[in-house]
Amino acid sequence: MLETATHSPVYRLGGLTLTCLSDGHLLIPGTYFPNADASEKEKVTPHTRFGANTWLVETGTRKILIDAGSGTSLKDRFPASGALDWRDSRLAARRDGITDVVVTHMHADHIGGLASQNRSLFPKARIHVQEKEWAFWTDEALLAAAPDDRKPMIALIQSLARPLTDQIVRHSGEADLGGGVRLLPAPGHTPGHQIAHLSDGDGEILLLGDVVVSDTLQFSNPDVTYALDRDPEQAVETRKRLFEWLTADEIPFAATHINATGLCRLEKRAAGYGFNPL
Ligand SMILES: [Zn+2]
Repeated sequence: MLETATHSPVYRLGGLTLTCLSDGHLLIPGTYFPNADASEKEKVTPHTRFGANTWLVETGTRKILIDAGSGTSLKDRFPASGALDWRDSRLAARRDGITDVVVTHMHADHIGGLASQNRSLFPKARIHVQEKEWAFWTDEALLAAAPDDRKPMIALIQSLARPLTDQIVRHSGEADLGGGVRLLPAPGHTPGHQIAHLSDGDGEILLLGDVVVSDTLQFSNPDVTYALDRDPEQAVETRKRLFEWLTADEIPFAATHINATGLCRLEKRAAGYGFNPL
């Protein structure tokens, strides 16, 4: 059950309510950080813990789910993933109440919870994706051209996306969803990766998706790349740009894989950055 799965911090920003929902965690091999140096590699060997955070934003008239976790799609490899289990029949009313879903990007740990057995679990919702992201992952040629070790991941994404097709709202660049919720492109990790910006009057919150994946490595050294970054250089550029913004304006933020379910604040340190849960 959603309510008892984990502690779910709730924040209010003017008329917006943000609930942080943990989908469990994933143990990621240290070998997934190709340019980390020896001392950094040691910190993530043999594996490092990724949180798996998702968010619900309520605006008064709308309930916007931002990412949906893994569902059952990654259970074999990551047994502690998919804790939210949106398939649960007791959650039917809550699923039906979701008016919009924002997909930060289409990796299975973000969209696996949207579909089960070839059917959408949120059939009434508009699902907001960047056009670039949708076009990239649903291209049949991508699967054909992929190296063998990437084919299962791409096939999984395509099978999860198929039942959602009729609900997809494609955005090209920034998108204002109304009620203080905006989507901002933050490419690199994937071609159409996007983040959510919440605002009401003076207050702001940023929900970063996978702009930063490893809290152990990438705050202290934002140059560390990740094996699943589609364009590692662009991912680094995006991360640095957003870290600058977060510190300059002291904006509370959350990110999918950091090991803190609630909001944090970023601070500059002698080397790189550090994050402090609020
Ligand atoms: Zn992810």
